[in-house]
Amino acid sequence: MAHQWRGVIREYAERLPVTESTEVITLGEGGTPLVHAPALSALVDGTVYLKVEGMNPTGSFKDRGMTMAITSAVAEGAKAVVCASTGNTSASAAAYATQAGLTCAVLVPAGKISMGKLSQAVAHGAELIQIDGNFDGCLDIARKLAENYPVFLVNSVNPSRIEGQKTAAFEVVDALGDAPDYHLLPVGNAGNITAYWKGYQEYAQPWKKPANSGNPAHDDAVELPAVATKTPILWGFQAAGAAPIVAGHPITEPETVATAIRIGNPASWEKAEAARDESGGVIEAVTDEEILAAHRWLSSKEGVFVEPASASGVAGLIKKHSAGAAPAGKTWVITVTGHGLKDPDWAINNPALQNENGEGAQPTQVPQDVETVARALGL
Ligand SMILES: *Cc1c(COP(=O)(O)O)cnc(C)c1O
Repeated sequence: MAHQWRGVIREYAERLPVTESTEVITLGEGGTPLVHAPALSALVDGTVYLKVEGMNPTGSFKDRGMTMAITSAVAEGAKAVVCASTGNTSASAAAYATQAGLTCAVLVPAGKISMGKLSQAVAHGAELIQIDGNFDGCLDIARKLAENYPVFLVNSVNPSRIEGQKTAAFEVVDALGDAPDYHLLPVGNAGNITAYWKGYQEYAQPWKKPANSGNPAHDDAVELPAVATKTPILWGFQAAGAAPIVAGHPITEPETVATAIRIGNPASWEKAEAARDESGGVIEAVTDEEILAAHRWLSSKEGVFVEPASASGVAGLIKKHSAGAAPAGKTWVITVTGHGLKDPDWAINNPALQNENGEGAQPTQVPQDVETVARALGL
C-alpha cells in the first residue's frame, strides 16, 4: 500500500505527549490541504493560502485536538468523556469516543446548534443534553461534572486538545518551507489561536521532547533543529456580537450567525492575548454582514465551501485590506475551520442570493425538454 497519512499523533509523535506504547485513537485527522486562493491573493497583492480544516474526518479542526484528548483519556483509564459544545466539538468527541469505546456526553445550548452538527453527535450515539443557556453556561456545567463525577473533560481547557491542535501550524510550515508572514483565524473559545501560537513557536526553536514525556526512547533523543526561521504575525477575528476579547469584558448574551464562535467568555482568553501580543498581532471584530460576505466570497470565488464562523478570518483580511492595513507582497495563511455542509442553510439563504421577497436561492424549474433547458441556461 502506498504511504497513507497516519493522523496527527503518529505523524508528529516526537512533538506530542505520547510514547511508543500509547494506544492511539485516530480517524486519520490532519494532513489537510493548504489551498491557494487566487481571488484573495489578487485582492491583497500577495500570496494567500487557505488551511482547509473542513477536510478533517468530522469536518472541523476539532479532530486534531480530539484524537489527542481521547487518546489521553484512554491512557488514564477513562470510561466516559464530557464536553460543552457549539456543535463541532460534540461531533468530534462523539466520533472519537465511539472508536475508543467510551461513553460520550455532550452539552449544547438549546436551539443554537446546526442540524449538520447535531446529526453527527446523534449518529455516533452521544448522550446529548440541550441546556437552556449559552455555550459558556454549558462549559461551566461540563467542568463541574468532570470535577465531581467519573467523566473526563475534553474541551480545549484540557491541555491535550491544544497539543493536538498545534499540529496545524506544523503542517503549514512543512508545506510552505517556513512560517507565513501572517496567519489569520476565527476566535471563539480561543483554544485554536493558542494552539497555533504554541505550534509556530515550537517549530521556530530547536526541539527536545520534555523529559517527563514518559518515553525513555525520546528522553535521550537528540535535539531536533528548528524547522522555521520565524513565527508569523497572528490576526484573530471574533464576531462583533460575540467579541469579549475586543471589548475587554465578557459578553453575557453573545449573538452571531457564526454559531461556532458564539462565545461570551473564552476559556483561553489570556493565552489568546499572549499569542496576539507576542506575535505582534491583533484580535479584532467582524460583523455578521462581513462574515456572510466572506462566506460567499470563498464559495463563489475560491471554490471553498465553509460554515459561516469559518469565514471570519477571510472577513478580517478583506476588512483590513479595505482599511489599508494589509501590506502588499506578503504570504498569508487563513484557517477556514469547518466544512460548509455543517450548516448549509447559509449557502442558500446568503443575503447576496436573496430576491426582493427575501427568499434564498431557488433552482429554475422547467419541463423535461432539451430546448427549454438550453434556453434556461442561456445557450
Ligand atoms: C470551534 C470552532 C471555532 C473557534 O475555535 P476556538 O478554538 O474556540 O477559538 C471556529 N470555527 C469553527 C468551525 C469551530 O468549530
